[in-house]
Amino acid sequence: MGSSWRVATIAGIHLNLHVSFALVLVLGAWPWLVFGAKGALFGAAMTLAIFACIALHELGHSLVARAFGIPVTDITLTPIGGVAVLKDRPKTPTQELLIAVAGPLVNVVLAAVFAGVGLVIEGPEPLFAAADTLMREPPRAEHIWVLLVSANVGLAVFNMLPALPMDGGRVLRAVLSYVFAPERATRVAAGVARVMAALFIVLWLMAEHASPMLPFIAMVVWFGAGAEVREAKVNRVLAMIRAGDVVSPYGPRFEPGTTLGQALKTLMVSPLPVFAIEQDGRLVGAVRREDLLEAARANGAWGYVASVVIRDVPVIDPFDTLDEVRSKMQRASVRAAAVMRGSIFLGLITELELAQAMEVADRLKQVPRRDSLGRELP
Ligand SMILES: [Zn+2]
Repeated sequence: MGSSWRVATIAGIHLNLHVSFALVLVLGAWPWLVFGAKGALFGAAMTLAIFACIALHELGHSLVARAFGIPVTDITLTPIGGVAVLKDRPKTPTQELLIAVAGPLVNVVLAAVFAGVGLVIEGPEPLFAAADTLMREPPRAEHIWVLLVSANVGLAVFNMLPALPMDGGRVLRAVLSYVFAPERATRVAAGVARVMAALFIVLWLMAEHASPMLPFIAMVVWFGAGAEVREAKVNRVLAMIRAGDVVSPYGPRFEPGTTLGQALKTLMVSPLPVFAIEQDGRLVGAVRREDLLEAARANGAWGYVASVVIRDVPVIDPFDTLDEVRSKMQRASVRAAAVMRGSIFLGLITELELAQAMEVADRLKQVPRRDSLGRELP
């Protein structure tokens, strides 16, 4: 995600803080400022601790996703929560269900641990007393337990609301997917999510101490649900088309010894984002348009295409469907896939071919099918 700082790497997953996070610390410190600088520091420290719990929540999603073979490279913390970037979508409803539940489950465990530690050290009375005096008295040690327990219970409950793309919405979609086709399940879950978004706004308008974050969350849910519906539609359409139907054997190709100058001439006439590199009819790798431009800027036109080749291009069969192709492309270091029939390289599929296939498949559906006498078929 753009404009964020990398603060840690856990189990090979980078933890990033979005720049707007600084604002969160100020907002966290603000209500405690009535107790002076010490109070403000306490508020900021507690906000950090709560966001550490959010990071662990995202780590819960990430590790379960990884257990299902879905690569996760980054977790980014933003003012309205965390995002774990999954490089592929879950393959079955059960996978989606378990990945979604793992996050809130982490918060349930954390709440139990904090409550347990607080109870063992101080017994139940200070906990209730602290809940009573929270924000009305200067911060005390008991306030830490109370805040962490209530924050984690809140995070678990809030995230389990059935508002796609939040965790509860994903659980709902996964459960619906046991009965409906994926796109239908997503449409129903998105409808529920939009009702929830409207409720968040109503709550924000009506409740006296409603969080100022509610309208933002409502917006994220509203547009996020729409994006999920579009994504489900794209996946359905792509699943109807085979790689062999969109691959072009005439796409421009380079050799490792092609100069950057020659390659740039091809870029002038071809809109492709990735090009194949071949030698003696064998696929060597692929090269990205932006890498060619950058290499030509840095090394001049006399450099060679070989200097920017990417070798680990995902390989697909002509009979693979385009949703499989897309999922392989998303995991790969280059947004392209090589269509191979046995050892014969047929051509490259890039984002451009996927977009074209989508556009055409969408139109094809609207053209009524006719029989040999011109009568419309159902
Ligand atoms: Zn979550």
